[in-house]
Amino acid sequence: MILRILGSGSADGIPAFFSNDRVSEHARRHGGKDVRTRSGALVDGHIKIDLPPDTLLQLQRDGLRASDWSALVFTHSHDDHFSYPELQYAFFPFNDNLFAPFAIYANAFILSEIAGYYPDWPLELHETRSFVPFRHAGYTITPVRAEHLEDEDSQNLMIDDGERTLLYATDTGWWPEVTWNFLKGRRLDLLVLECTEAFQPTDYHGHLDAETFLRALDRLRRQGTVDDGTVVCTTHHSHSGNATHDELERFFRPRGVLVGFDGMELEI
Ligand SMILES: [Zn+2]
Ligand SMILES: [Zn+2]
Repeated sequence: MILRILGSGSADGIPAFFSNDRVSEHARRHGGKDVRTRSGALVDGHIKIDLPPDTLLQLQRDGLRASDWSALVFTHSHDDHFSYPELQYAFFPFNDNLFAPFAIYANAFILSEIAGYYPDWPLELHETRSFVPFRHAGYTITPVRAEHLEDEDSQNLMIDDGERTLLYATDTGWWPEVTWNFLKGRRLDLLVLECTEAFQPTDYHGHLDAETFLRALDRLRRQGTVDDGTVVCTTHHSHSGNATHDELERFFRPRGVLVGFDGMELEI
């Protein structure tokens, strides 16, 4: 499998929308891997994860086609992952499609939001629930529960193609015990894990920082979910984490962790 990180930033991106802090200014000057759009990913070129408001820019930047998507899988309803107005461009009159060319998989809250906005749209909608696997195009996709939103089943996504398994985990928070237990005894070939708050932790429960990232990784190693053969990579970085790409690399590289960036491809 190949996972492409289309966006590696958190809600307001880097350089941040309305911030001129050190990390944003550094990114404005240096460009490259320091520029992070809102988080999304693409598996094997056709399973799209989340629909951030930067999706069009990401496709244009990487020379990709949304018409290649077979599925759009949502993790949760925060604006940086669920930019629902973008869905309208999948249809007539913007093109000749009379029906969405991809299936949408999402939790009950997101489906109710879509139904509220666009009750008559020709979309193939499937409800997802944490720990309930579903099949799509030969893949088994298992959402696992994140500790991120109180009143919604926010999910991280385990994707298995029959040979390899990856876990894409933005907006995780510190997982509840039920998630740790579910992951126990399952081995990952690739773990993409959020590091939103990097070197500046906050009191918000729904994200990880550099230290909690390492604590989570250590626990995953001890319980056999991650081993020496697992590729581990960060994503969903905020300017508020006070870390440039180089600073993140200096911290994570000696610990065997890759630092994600926009356009990065991870092959397992
Ligand atoms: Zn997010
Ligand atoms: Zn979120």
